[in-house]
Amino acid sequence: MKKYYVMTLFPDMVLNNVRTSITGRAIADGKISVDAVNIREYTEDKRHGRVDDYPYGGGAGMLMQAQPIYDCYQAISGALGHNPRVLYMSPQGRTFDQRMAEELAGEEELVFLCGHYEGVDERALELIHAENVSIGDYVLTGGELASCVMIDAISRLVPGVLNKDASYEIESFSDGLLEYPQYTRPEEYMGLKVPEILLSGDHKKVEEWRHSMSLERTRSVRPELYALYQQEHPEEFMEKPKRRRRKSHTDS
Ligand code: SAM
Repeated sequence: MKKYYVMTLFPDMVLNNVRTSITGRAIADGKISVDAVNIREYTEDKRHGRVDDYPYGGGAGMLMQAQPIYDCYQAISGALGHNPRVLYMSPQGRTFDQRMAEELAGEEELVFLCGHYEGVDERALELIHAENVSIGDYVLTGGELASCVMIDAISRLVPGVLNKDASYEIESFSDGLLEYPQYTRPEEYMGLKVPEILLSGDHKKVEEWRHSMSLERTRSVRPELYALYQQEHPEEFMEKPKRRRRKSHTDS
């Protein structure tokens, strides 16, 4: 079973999310577990339950203090018997993508640290050796949604979480391209018809059509992904040698 630990000040934000739909079923089936660990329980300031303070040097907002975060991580490490990999959800991190999801799907345990307010004291990150990971170039109010996004994307790669393991093998990004357009019943809706080829029953032709649509969609929407795909699959873009015309008896 793959184990996630989410260090957060708002455990319900995480649990309400991951207990729904496919990740919820994966938890019920024992494929994954998600433990939302409340950082506040580890503060030494038991009287006020304080976990944040003003930043040194001034500036707006509050920062989460190092001590509760460090002790929270130590408690998780103690329970596991080793220091698990820890990812700090941060707009300053390396951007999460499908390749990183694939890499992280191989880890037995993962710890997510969710910041809130203005973020966390840098020393906490240093002490627990956190890797900064961002889910995109925008700023959220907290890391909880970011951790849920990552748990969702990683979990669907864990064997047995999706009904058909094959379904993620042909999705967007899995081969470096965006997925082709898809259609379901009815064959015609509001005057729009399903492309003829998908009804032909010719699997080879359907595959070729899908691949060409994937290429076209990626080229127009994500040119940088398309360029990378071209680099990695040069054979597909090589000009096919023109067939020599056979000399016929009418040629002089
Ligand atoms: N002051 C911080 C900065 O400029 O880098 C932003 C703090 S943000 C308001 C509060 C928390 O939300 C962060 O500590 C982080 O955990 C989370 N967060 C915000 N944007 C994120 C993103 N794009 N990806 C992952 N986590 C994010």
